[in-house]
Amino acid sequence: MGRLLRRSFLPTRVGDLCKNFELCAKALEFSLIIVYNKGVFFYGEGGERVAHHRPTQRERNPYPYSDTNKRYFTYDYYLRRTFGGKCAKIPLDIGLSCPNIDGRCGTGGCIYCSGRGSGDFAASPLLSVREQYDLVRAQLSAKWSVERCIAYFQAHTNTYAPLSFLRERFEEALALDGVVGLNVATRADCLEEDVLAYLGELAERTVLTVELGLQTAHDETAKRINRGHTWAQFCAGFEALRRQSDRIGICVHLIFGLPGETDAMMLETVRRVAELRPDQFKIHLLHVLRGTRLGEMYEAGEYAPPERERYIGLVVSALTMLPPDTVVARLTGDGAADDLLAPAWSRRKKSVLNDIDKMLVERDLYQGCALGGEERI
Ligand code: SF4
Repeated sequence: MGRLLRRSFLPTRVGDLCKNFELCAKALEFSLIIVYNKGVFFYGEGGERVAHHRPTQRERNPYPYSDTNKRYFTYDYYLRRTFGGKCAKIPLDIGLSCPNIDGRCGTGGCIYCSGRGSGDFAASPLLSVREQYDLVRAQLSAKWSVERCIAYFQAHTNTYAPLSFLRERFEEALALDGVVGLNVATRADCLEEDVLAYLGELAERTVLTVELGLQTAHDETAKRINRGHTWAQFCAGFEALRRQSDRIGICVHLIFGLPGETDAMMLETVRRVAELRPDQFKIHLLHVLRGTRLGEMYEAGEYAPPERERYIGLVVSALTMLPPDTVVARLTGDGAADDLLAPAWSRRKKSVLNDIDKMLVERDLYQGCALGGEERI
């Protein structure tokens, strides 16, 4: 029977390692097994090394909510665990507006907002929910599996309408073929009592995620970008959703690279949001789009987007500060490619994501590793 001389892996990782390799069975017959960071060495009776296994990044990944080399809680992992496989997210636009566009708390909207209110990939709001869904689903089916779909009410503020109007559209979506869940993008200052009650009811019938745009916890930045609400208003809306039902998933959106924000400010936003314990978290890179106020600032030399390396470093730091079981639904932005003025490097989204993974491995970091106490894995 072999004996384990030294463990550099967590015990569970030794188990995983052994489970995954036939060597394990044989290993127990060896006289000595040494587990190093760089691999497992098996020695025979005479002290000779008879086998060596160098673990892959996946096997050496210390982060528990992952079955790949990813060191954070990916949306893909969440979908597989929740729905049994990948789901297509179908963007919908039901023709609503926002309170910082129509005058309730401002006009002009957020300075970076495209005219479609983040619904650039949705079909026309003149079409019914079913028509939009069928159209986008058919387009996506060329590339992705659309067997399971999440109806994503994405454009503008999707709780900023009378309840009867919302109910009709949400129920229509829920009844569509292939729909396994609803995502509703909105603002924390647009959650009336009757809408909250309905969301609570919906969450009993489907997997419901409410996506709340925060973007920054700093009121001076919120003012600069014409956000139209404060941190305190955001927290009030967040808490109201939580009180309504713990079955409502909450996803908080942040933006890195907002004008006037330092790295410390962005990470302070992450820290404050992490304390709220949302179910999901999205980090967007600020995209400068043609035809927006931000686009004008950029062209006038009043705004410069973050450099690629700085953004990657910020994202990595943010991940280390998030509770390990929070789903990370996005780590970059998805702007309308034709209207993108800057940053040009953001077009290569996959390479940015790869370099985030790379930095996590090189520095041996993972989601939540900077947290102390019970939060830490
Ligand atoms: S709240 Fe969202 S949709 Fe509305 S103006 Fe701001 S970015 Fe655009």
